[in-house]
Amino acid sequence: AESAEKTTLIDCNLLVAKALARAGVDHMFGVVGIPVTSLANRSVALGVRFIAFHNEQSAGYAASAYGYLTGRPGILLTVSGPGCVHGLAGLSNAAANAWPMVMISGSCDQKDVGRGDFQELDQLAAVKPFVKFSVKAKHINEIPNSVFSVLDHSGSGRPGGCYLDIPADVLHQTLTESEATKLLDDAECNRITESVTNIPNDKIAKAISLIRKAERPLIVFGKGAALARAENEIKDLVEKTGIPFLPTPMGKGLLPDSHELAATAARSLAIGKCDVAVVVGARLNWLLHFGEPPKWSKDVKFILIDIDEGEIELRKPELGLVGDAKGIVKVLNKEIKDDPFCFGRSHPWIEAITNKVKENVSRMEGQLGKVVVPFNFLTPMRIIRDAIIGLGSPAPILVSEGANTMDVGRSVLVQMEPRTRLDAGTWGTMGVGLGYCIAAAVASPDRLVVAVEGDSGFGFSAMEVETLVRYQLPVVVIVFNNGGVYGGDRRNPEDITGPYKDDPAPTSFVPGAAYHLLIEAFGGKGYLVGNPDELKSALTESFSARKPAVINVTIDPYAGAESGRMQHKN
Ligand code: ADP
Repeated sequence: AESAEKTTLIDCNLLVAKALARAGVDHMFGVVGIPVTSLANRSVALGVRFIAFHNEQSAGYAASAYGYLTGRPGILLTVSGPGCVHGLAGLSNAAANAWPMVMISGSCDQKDVGRGDFQELDQLAAVKPFVKFSVKAKHINEIPNSVFSVLDHSGSGRPGGCYLDIPADVLHQTLTESEATKLLDDAECNRITESVTNIPNDKIAKAISLIRKAERPLIVFGKGAALARAENEIKDLVEKTGIPFLPTPMGKGLLPDSHELAATAARSLAIGKCDVAVVVGARLNWLLHFGEPPKWSKDVKFILIDIDEGEIELRKPELGLVGDAKGIVKVLNKEIKDDPFCFGRSHPWIEAITNKVKENVSRMEGQLGKVVVPFNFLTPMRIIRDAIIGLGSPAPILVSEGANTMDVGRSVLVQMEPRTRLDAGTWGTMGVGLGYCIAAAVASPDRLVVAVEGDSGFGFSAMEVETLVRYQLPVVVIVFNNGGVYGGDRRNPEDITGPYKDDPAPTSFVPGAAYHLLIEAFGGKGYLVGNPDELKSALTESFSARKPAVINVTIDPYAGAESGRMQHKN
């Protein structure tokens, strides 16, 4: 019996893999090396797909976006010390965006801590500002509980990043198969289950009365509503009540942009004049101008629906409803059904919004109709929009970053389906593009992924085009190449003095960089385009091929503005 026990000894790498697989983890993103290579291999052997990146930063962005798109924590695996530090980018992104993600890092031998070990770092201290919960497994026995805890904490309440630290010596410990099974079974019994929050009836009644009495109501929804998968409930609420809606940038698509009650093209009017705003899964942070004047009216009454009680305490709205957006909006709909009301199309507020939308859309279409070559931002964006619309359903997932490229893209490109837009988000992070593309492609294999990004944003993680090719992911990356951050050298010649005055501007890159050749180095398809016909043909070919491609679009370096639409913060 003793010898049979010996043959079934398993090591900690396998135990981690078993715990992950048991918890239903199906993807992991990361970079292997000492001491986690075996952990990755063991996980793959148990059916977890490991997407190997060049840099933990991109892998971390991928893990965070995977968490958002699937609603289950995205996993990042890193080596110790510097690997963990690179991974902080992803962890901070998950924290800022409130997306579920878990970073697992190897760390140095516990007995060598404080002696200058290989890649030694106090990793728990390093991750602290970015995590909801972190734990170091100091012994193999702690693995199952630790793995389940980080997964459970990252997804419960307001989602966010969690961290699991596994020292190299622990990864080398072993136990018997039966001990492992017992630990896993016990840990599974201790998993946190989300409690359902019940909203008191008087709060629901107050919400409905506020909405009913409003003269200029507005429904705002964001990526929390997207995470909650509340699209059907929000659609019901909008259509039952006839209230116009405004999605945040990543809330776009929850209801189609083409919906007759979409107020996106009349954003300033909608937020500036509404008297009651029902905000579902969106923080009143910088993206929504803190809910304050001058962008919002000073008398606006907010009804905030959020899973996080702290958010309600922070904003002090007229009314806060704490809980899952899908469940709460469903209850609101049910209550309204008993005594229906609808702000019909001839209501002055609805008319004002729809007229403004018509006016702004036709002005924008006028601008988009002009063909400008060398390309400005609008002409190629319109061509891309039409190509994307031509794809129909399932709509592609659109990844967008850059200053002008993202701003113009947000107003021109059309979102028709939920969770099909990923951009720089709450953290305003550039460099997320390639990681997001990879996450989107593996999270939604039936969808094409189209990235529209500036050359600067692309450059942060351009080497990951090799990852696209290696896994043959259906991703088309369109680079708006204007030769730098914001474009060409915009400095006033009198301001350029000093010993380095002949250096290129801090904002500029090599003009005419052949980004399309980067992907060709790995066997992907590259296109260089400078006019509408070339762009259209590259889009048609790459969209139907559904293979990794980079379309390098030459943009006039003087088109667009410094800092895009954020000049006030510059
Ligand atoms: P956006 O950037 O789209 O405005 P934010 O990231 O600022 O959105 O806000 C998302 C909000 O959604 C967060 O305050 C978060 O607590 C909340 N949230 C996350 N999941 C849910 C859920 N299931 N139900 C309700 N609110 C949620």
